Amino acid sequence: MENRMIVAGKSIEQWKREYPLLSEMMATKEVFWTNPGYAPIACAALSVTAEEIHEAEERLRRFAPFIQRAFPETAEAGGLIESPLVSIGKMQSELAARFAQEIPGRLLLKCDSHLPIAGSIKARGGIYEVLAHAEDLARKHGLLPADGDYAVFASDSYRELFSRYSIAVGSTGNLGLSIGIISAKLGFRVTVHMSADAKAWKKELLRAKGVQVIEYQSDYGKAVEEGRKQAEADPNCYFIDDENSRRLFLGYAVAARRLQKQLEEQQVVVDSEHPLFVYLPCGVGGGPGGVAYGLKLVYGDHVHCFFAEPTHSPCMLLGLMTGLHDQVAVQDFGIDNRTEADGLAVGRPSRFVGKVMESLLSGVYTVADEELYRLLRALRDSESVRLEPSALAGMPGPVRLLAHAAGQRYIDQHGLAGKLANATHIVWATGGSLVPAHIQEEYYAKGLQYDQSSI
Ligand SMILES: *Cc1c(COP(=O)(O)O)cnc(C)c1O
Repeated sequence: MENRMIVAGKSIEQWKREYPLLSEMMATKEVFWTNPGYAPIACAALSVTAEEIHEAEERLRRFAPFIQRAFPETAEAGGLIESPLVSIGKMQSELAARFAQEIPGRLLLKCDSHLPIAGSIKARGGIYEVLAHAEDLARKHGLLPADGDYAVFASDSYRELFSRYSIAVGSTGNLGLSIGIISAKLGFRVTVHMSADAKAWKKELLRAKGVQVIEYQSDYGKAVEEGRKQAEADPNCYFIDDENSRRLFLGYAVAARRLQKQLEEQQVVVDSEHPLFVYLPCGVGGGPGGVAYGLKLVYGDHVHCFFAEPTHSPCMLLGLMTGLHDQVAVQDFGIDNRTEADGLAVGRPSRFVGKVMESLLSGVYTVADEELYRLLRALRDSESVRLEPSALAGMPGPVRLLAHAAGQRYIDQHGLAGKLANATHIVWATGGSLVPAHIQEEYYAKGLQYDQSSI
């Protein structure tokens, strides 16, 4: 019945014949896909320039005095919103034992889970876009600080100005947190349209900060659509478009140069003999896309980026594999987009990101929800790092790459086999430090339970 349905002019049966992996995806099995369109960066049409990313970096630097004043927890970092990069050798051993797969090289965790202000990767893109908008408005009203000291953005006169404007966004949770917190701090009226997946504590936290939260019974796509509608009806309302925003993307991309500095400080070499592999949890694509794109500009062909999605929400994989991008949703193929990984519960990918990453992304793999909980438990016990389920999607990446036949082919094709002992694997931990303690305990208990039921 379902198989006779037509998607973009072809029956599901035809799609499955063309892309055999689809059958496994439709059965919500864990899959590993390498991108047949992956090409050397010299061949890529770079539609976002290094110059644009540099400008974003400069804008964040201008705003650092404001951030420092408004969020004292950033004072030590001089108002820069950045996260630690840590070695997780014990987890590396744990993974090797758990999956009976040796992982040569070193394993690092990029702790965006512990980014200040919003506790997730959204503190990069989301905060950047709101700051860029605030700067635009200040310029329009002739209020750019003459001495260049942006600390005045924390003053009452600026709050009064921004209170005449509003900001809207659709979110599964974390983008709403990031946009809501920074917008409210600047004085904007802000509305967050939350999908059904959004966790109750995220909504409560926002409401406590004076953010208007509107809840929907349906998924992320609907929340975004409603946010967009609201903004269209009000000329003073600025809509943050998670599906298409260049500014969000740029904010995320700034991570790359900062990571480069951290790697240098830790004397981690990345070059033709020392490959870097990066594993990024993917929802609509902006966060992982921006970071990965930035990394490709910095390290070119020496970095290999993989996205990780829940087995029930493999939207970017579906969009890239079929070339349909935002013309397809996982639901079109009978995949339900129901996952505990709320940050990744997206059924339709960003076309903008899919196009930009088309030849730069090495591959995509999917992870079952139970596995996210098991890894959450294992990481907490081995390294005392607490994450939210979405943020664990990167963790099985090295094992998948090394154990899977398609991963082995990728390694051979790119002449990496002899270099694996020199490799660095970075798992991007995208969120978790704001999770209330009792909910963190529930996550942990689930991890234990799934571990026991699999023995
Ligand atoms: C949003 C989010 C992601 C993915 O970012 P996208 O821009 O939606 O692809 C990954 N992990 C967490 C915890 C997130 O909140």
